[in-house]
Amino acid sequence: MAVASVGANDACPEGHALPNRAADLELAAITKAYGETIAVDRVSLKIPAGTYCCLLGPSGCGKSSTLRMIAGHEFISDGDVMIGDTVVNDLPPAKRGTAMMFQSYALFPHLSVRENVAFSLKMAGAAKAERLKRADDLLALVDMTRYGDRLPAQLSGGQQQRVALARALVTNPTVLLLDEPLSALDPFLRIRMRAELKRYQREFGISFIHVTHSQEEAMALADMVVVMNDGRIEQVGSPREVFNAPKTVFVAKFMGGHNVVPEGGKSYAVRADRIKLARPGEAGAKATVTDVEYQGMTVHVALTREDGTDLLVTLAETEFDRAPVSVGDTVSVGWQPADRHELAA
Ligand code: ADP
Repeated sequence: MAVASVGANDACPEGHALPNRAADLELAAITKAYGETIAVDRVSLKIPAGTYCCLLGPSGCGKSSTLRMIAGHEFISDGDVMIGDTVVNDLPPAKRGTAMMFQSYALFPHLSVRENVAFSLKMAGAAKAERLKRADDLLALVDMTRYGDRLPAQLSGGQQQRVALARALVTNPTVLLLDEPLSALDPFLRIRMRAELKRYQREFGISFIHVTHSQEEAMALADMVVVMNDGRIEQVGSPREVFNAPKTVFVAKFMGGHNVVPEGGKSYAVRADRIKLARPGEAGAKATVTDVEYQGMTVHVALTREDGTDLLVTLAETEFDRAPVSVGDTVSVGWQPADRHELAA
């Protein structure tokens, strides 16, 4: 991946209108205090150039505050934000090499699509012909050339999102920051647009830092998932690492699809699809079926083990059909030792 910083008029190696200006981003113990509230508590994180990074966590865990400190829209109470070799703490947003794409897209309703995309170049003092040329290049990149003269209100949600993306990328940022960028879309379009975001991130080769509260979205998009809770990082890893080997009870519960099982004074995570059911008396612990939910491709079986632990088991429909169970049945439950992951206290 090219990391060199090149002038705005150079063609990038992949032949796009924009050069590749990827850079590493580093957060060194950044903290955000709003009066008494510590929204972000000494968060440290290194995001290598060209990474699709998702900040994932429940509402109020500090994701947006972290993003806004990177963008320069929020003062940093303590710690440093570094982009490449530069500490950007005191730089204004436009001088950081970051760009932000907002939830509502924040397009100017009275400006045409082309003028919306060219807007920040106008602010930067670029000549009219140059900025319209670059706006057109970006619109071509997001497949919106023929909509250049329309107003935002004359576009669909997905088209507005592409314009917002073109507008954010027109300044040739090293890092694109996205705050819940898909939340305004209906579920069908959301899945389509997230595939587009991923494709653009790969094509541009810069880092995207994407805030979301959706595990599914983070798993689908991210190279690096950062699970946050209460102003701190719980776990950083690839989607598979975070899902398959959650380190804490919080991550196991938040990612879903896991059972938290206390055994011998410790807590373990066991994926719902790794638990096996057998006839009572066979190897395993005794449990009573408390609920059976048909979900189409899978069947969810809720159980309570003899020691009182509630378990959720996901079975493929065919697997369930081989040995169906009903509420009130007694069964044996068990799992392979390798499917049990110890959780931090
Ligand atoms: P998230 O993006 O994960 O929902 P935020 O970063 O928006 O979380 O908020 C983290 C915490 O900081 C929350 O408790 C929120 O209420 C608080 N907070 C956010 N912005 C402000 C603000 N401008 N003033 C005071 N408290 C705020």
